[in-house]
Amino acid sequence: MARQLEDCRKLAADRGWPIGDEYVDNDVSAYSGKPRREYARMLADLTSGARDAVIVYNLDRLHRRPVELEEFVTLCESSGVRDVATVTADIDLGNDDGLFMARIFAAFAAKESGRKSARVRRKLLQNAEQGLPHGSVRPFGYESDKITLRDAEAKVIREMVDRYLAGASIRSLTIWLNDAGIAPAVAKSWQTSAVRQILTSGRIAGLREHHGEVIGPATWTAIITPAERDRILARMATRALTKTRAPRTYLLSGMLRCGRCGNRLFSQARHSNPDNRVRRYVCLKGPDHGGCGRLTVVASPVEELLTDAVLTRLDSPQLAEALAGKSSVDADVAALATQLEADQARLDELAGLYAAGAVSAREWIAARDPITERIAQARRDIAHATDTSSVVDLAGCGEVLRGQWDDLDIDRQQAIIKSVLDHAVIAPGNPGSRSLDINRVQPAWRI
Ligand SMILES: [Zn+2]
Repeated sequence: MARQLEDCRKLAADRGWPIGDEYVDNDVSAYSGKPRREYARMLADLTSGARDAVIVYNLDRLHRRPVELEEFVTLCESSGVRDVATVTADIDLGNDDGLFMARIFAAFAAKESGRKSARVRRKLLQNAEQGLPHGSVRPFGYESDKITLRDAEAKVIREMVDRYLAGASIRSLTIWLNDAGIAPAVAKSWQTSAVRQILTSGRIAGLREHHGEVIGPATWTAIITPAERDRILARMATRALTKTRAPRTYLLSGMLRCGRCGNRLFSQARHSNPDNRVRRYVCLKGPDHGGCGRLTVVASPVEELLTDAVLTRLDSPQLAEALAGKSSVDADVAALATQLEADQARLDELAGLYAAGAVSAREWIAARDPITERIAQARRDIAHATDTSSVVDLAGCGEVLRGQWDDLDIDRQQAIIKSVLDHAVIAPGNPGSRSLDINRVQPAWRI
């Protein structure tokens, strides 16, 4: 670096340019993404007209990305800077040939940094595979070595998880943390994003992540179990699902099944029958649908019938009874979580056997797949079981909801129906009939 500076001074002397200032960003490559304060100061001085020429050792010291070069060229043009000299190659940005060469250099430098960053990435991956911590910020719950637990904070995380799994929202957790005067690791106060990040992080479950994916056990102490983290993720996924669902025009989309073949019924796309404005649910044949294609039902009477049945059910003694036994849901979830944890342990064991060469890759995969499938199913079951909270709020409100039903938007209506109805089977009937034989509709209740 000192040598390069010396060369630049010599070039200035050769050309008879007085040195206005020297801008040196030590150890900050243009690629690193860290702010280059001196470079920024130089740009400001060029813009203001305080400097009218630039000497640089090599153009790649100036910019590593083509887009930065373009910005620099534009700046030179607009502020009348004509003289840009380099020690390694004489380039005049003021003419087309010079600019062309500069662009080639910039493109080459960008490729070179890309290669460098691949080396850095490989090193990071290696650290990740060994379960080593990374990052410059102390994670909440841990000392600055990122391995030792900071007990007071670990206890807070434990409580965050318990509260979240008991039904608290991210927002209410954030308010609680701020009200309780618990200091975050870096920021001044808690934000919902930080709370979400902690809850979903593999870190607190003793898992090392790389690019957002868990790649194995970490070297630090876990605060919660991987199974608990699975429950957190499942709960978050169900919440996200109910929030970002695409708008629907068919109330019972996805909830009806064909009484002939058992396949899901689809709402009939309007454009496929422009002459016929009657909305229908139909069984569709073909590779994307796979039904028998031999069942159709007119939409509105089924929707009215099932809405009525749902609202009646919400006020029914059966529902009250079912909810009274709701503690069994928690027991189910606990059992599923235990199973999930055991399966996860089996997977780890298998991976260990494979790593030790005790089983072949084929044996490993053959043994792994059914376990992975079971884990996925358990996650779905947990999500399903923990999603009954809304029915608790709705129970006994059937009559009230009936009064305002038409004012509710379709997402809300659907959420209410889904709180108690799993699906309904539509039995074959007279397809031409506009009135509905109520015996064709067989609801399967969730609760
Ligand atoms: Zn069918």
